[in-house]
Amino acid sequence: MTAVPGGVPGASLEAVPEVREVEVADGVVALVNGDGGAGQSNSVLLLGEPVTVVDTMLLPEMAAAIPAALERRGRRAGLVVNTHIHTDHIGGNLLFDDAPIVAHPRTVAGMRRMIGERGLPALLAKVMPGFATRLADWDSVAAEPVPPDGIERALPSGAKVLEFTDTHSAADLAVWLPAQKVLVSGDLCFAGVTPLAVHGRVGRWRAALDRLIALEPAAVVPGHGGPAGPGVLHDLADYFDRVLAAARLAHAEDLPAETVWAQFDPGPAAGWLEPERTLVNIQVALAETTGKPFEGVHRVRQGQHPPHSH
Ligand SMILES: [Zn+2]
Repeated sequence: MTAVPGGVPGASLEAVPEVREVEVADGVVALVNGDGGAGQSNSVLLLGEPVTVVDTMLLPEMAAAIPAALERRGRRAGLVVNTHIHTDHIGGNLLFDDAPIVAHPRTVAGMRRMIGERGLPALLAKVMPGFATRLADWDSVAAEPVPPDGIERALPSGAKVLEFTDTHSAADLAVWLPAQKVLVSGDLCFAGVTPLAVHGRVGRWRAALDRLIALEPAAVVPGHGGPAGPGVLHDLADYFDRVLAAARLAHAEDLPAETVWAQFDPGPAAGWLEPERTLVNIQVALAETTGKPFEGVHRVRQGQHPPHSH
């Protein structure tokens, strides 16, 4: 039996999905991670001054694609921004020990509690069974807390930071590049993958989409799935309208979330990956409608911070 580097001795490691480079606009490169399913989130390179990496994927083995893509261009990361707390956006932070890593103060407060917590790797393996072996020793480093306006000042000139709280997670940042009309949305947008609001609020996320749509982006780099046109924001808004309507129906007719889910018309979401997340989203929306705390199947234990990947 031989030890596998970075993994459990003797256990066979799961394959890491392919990372595909897409030049979205001049100086904007999306590193598109696999099919965007659980644990497969994108990174984005902004090739200005400083060279900026937005999000660092789940595993250092995935995130190795980031310095490799920079190296091919003769560049090095000068700044790393984590859009939010989820492990699939921060797991490669370890690779950037000579660049400042920054995030929203609420994100960092959660990261500091989450990273190194006993039981976190086991929980992650449960939520992302496709990478269970690789997650056995999952670790990361927390970002430095910087308010959104401070992050904006640190970014290449012209880039805007948009702040959203209690939408997808406690705090989510998006980067808007007005010159290129490119929106780097983090997990405020998913493309071809069902979003997950388990740590957020459906109503507030839906409202955030109106703010993003109003920017009139030419291209959106989502947190999961490939770069897309602005229609991807409209599709997600339509999906959340359906989720909110399902929750209102459940509330009005006193039906369980499972019942309205069974009758759910996904509209534009037909064929999206991870369709079972819709039940959780309906449960979250129902909790918002009734004002009761969300007690759904994906709820992590009280006081624990969001370890999920999505
Ligand atoms: Zn997320």
